[in-house]
Amino acid sequence: MTKKAVVMKGDGIGPEVVDSMLKVLKECNLQSELIHCEVGSEQWERNGFKEKSYIPDKTMEALDDADACFKGPTTTIPKPDAPKSVAVTLRQKFELYSNIRPIKTFKRLTPNRNLDFVCFREATEGLYSGIEVQISDDAAIAIRQITRKNCRRFILSGFQWAKKYNLKKMTGITKRNILKKTDGIFWEELENCQKEFPNMELEEIYIDNMSQQLVINPEQFNNSVLLSTNLFMDIISELASGIVGSIGLIYSANMGDSFAMFEAAHGSAPSIAGQNKANPTATILAGAWMAEYLGESDIKNAIFSATEQVINENKATTSDIGGSAGTTQMTDAIVVYAKQKLRR
Ligand code: NAD
Repeated sequence: MTKKAVVMKGDGIGPEVVDSMLKVLKECNLQSELIHCEVGSEQWERNGFKEKSYIPDKTMEALDDADACFKGPTTTIPKPDAPKSVAVTLRQKFELYSNIRPIKTFKRLTPNRNLDFVCFREATEGLYSGIEVQISDDAAIAIRQITRKNCRRFILSGFQWAKKYNLKKMTGITKRNILKKTDGIFWEELENCQKEFPNMELEEIYIDNMSQQLVINPEQFNNSVLLSTNLFMDIISELASGIVGSIGLIYSANMGDSFAMFEAAHGSAPSIAGQNKANPTATILAGAWMAEYLGESDIKNAIFSATEQVINENKATTSDIGGSAGTTQMTDAIVVYAKQKLRR
């Protein structure tokens, strides 16, 4: 049966980069059905700021009926009474507990760096639980909720990834010397899960040390899975993205037991929106990963290989990675190579 995915273009550069992704998938003859829906703060503003959510009911209904979704970046207005982030809402609603960001360098962009590891971020709780309390005019607290059940399902998915891709080491990032209870549970569950994967090595690194290790010697993490709680890994994976060369290159997936959401790691980049400047790579690679999830893995392989070729050749790349091409030209170059690779 044909699989179904909802596609939401989002805000800022979202429509440009998602159009790129759609063009590549169409030219590669994707068979899965794509259903287009609105989401984000721009449609919320257009509709008169009336709704409590950036996700219209119609979109939610389509999501309930789909196998997966693609979400372009969305703007989250940082005001207490504005709706909750689209990404956080969908991760929590569909229990997409593992936000996965592979970190891999491209030869041309970082000739002296060779990175290949994966970041696993718990995506349903932690400091993103949404529990904030205003105690007085001058004080507020945020609750960092950590539960054994949610740690366990997330950590197991990291171990399963390691097993699938033959990685031998798991690195748990905590601040257990200070956050003794919350990170205590997280670390205990890492140790408990390791018992089920006895061949896997497990190490713990505190978040502050991890940050400097990533700057001075990131290669030490090659062939390993880095795992952490929600906010810690959001920050660590962005730090790692900086080493790769541009946040515009980092693709990601949010996986649960029966649904997945694919997206770029970057945001809506409002300052370059509508200028044909955004790097479409992260969105195109996330779309290719979605094609694999929907059962069309030949498309994923062709697109990944084509994108790498375009970036390393540097004839049609965007300015964030040293080129002078626009979003659309880079997309067209990826299309040409991806189609060639599919014909072989
Ligand atoms: P951002 O990722 O949008 O931008 C950070 C920097 O990276 C900017 O200089 C931007 O121009 C650049 N950049 C981002 N994507 C790029 C691309 N594809 N090509 C070239 N350059 C690119 O982060 P921000 O400025 O912190 O956030 C802007 C908005 O995005 C906020 O409203 C934030 O809430 C939202 N956001 C959404 C998501 C998501 O939808 N998952 C993730 C992060 C931020």
